[in-house]
Amino acid sequence: MGKFQTEKKYHTGINDLIIHLKNSKFLTDDRVESALRNIPRHEFVPKSELDYAYDNEPLPIMKNQTISQPGVVVRMTEWLDVKDGQKILEIGTGSGWQSAILSYLVGKGDVYSVERHPELVKFAQENLKKFNIDNVHVILGDGSLGYSEASPYDRIIITAACSEIPLPLLDQLKENGLIIAPVGDSSQSLVLLQKTSKGIVEIKNHSKYAFVPLHGKFGKK
Ligand code: SAM
Repeated sequence: MGKFQTEKKYHTGINDLIIHLKNSKFLTDDRVESALRNIPRHEFVPKSELDYAYDNEPLPIMKNQTISQPGVVVRMTEWLDVKDGQKILEIGTGSGWQSAILSYLVGKGDVYSVERHPELVKFAQENLKKFNIDNVHVILGDGSLGYSEASPYDRIIITAACSEIPLPLLDQLKENGLIIAPVGDSSQSLVLLQKTSKGIVEIKNHSKYAFVPLHGKFGKK
């Protein structure tokens, strides 16, 4: 992926956001900071939201969906501990920003991302094209079923709220692999789980997040 030349007018916004995320201890990993600088968020928001691209807030995209809050994207990315060359599954492509950040971190690895709205598949693909990203594969479908065609995965990230982690996703995770998801009804806990030879183990849990719901066969009840 070539280095993307960020327009000067957005430099202050990116720098201020990074300082804020560091001060609030959401951003601690230099590789994730580098991803944030190289994959500027303003390239993934609709024109009407450009002035707010570097606010630490979720923003509307289309089909009543959102690009997630930067602090949440950073936290999920850091907890997922992505390594070079890994194969990642993301459920809920939305704008493609999270997929692009993961793509940056996996290097020669691959990101498979499933989205249920055709309009968002197109929006994300157009956004990813600006960076010549060729290791993100956006798939139209019901992500609550996972994407068994490319399984098993080293890491799985669900970017929409679920009542419980869909079973097909646990099946599609490699042994020792990590899965992160917002779990809960009116408010969610961010949960990081590891699949071990002895079963599923909770690694981290942090409460009070608000995500749009995961739909589909194994989605929110
Ligand atoms: N990761 C996105 C980004 O960086 O812009 C934000 C994702 S948004 C918070 C959640 C997304 O999950 C929405 O785009 C929504 O359409 C999608 N979604 C919800 N249920 C889904 C399902 N069953 N399969 C695939 N996508 C789903």
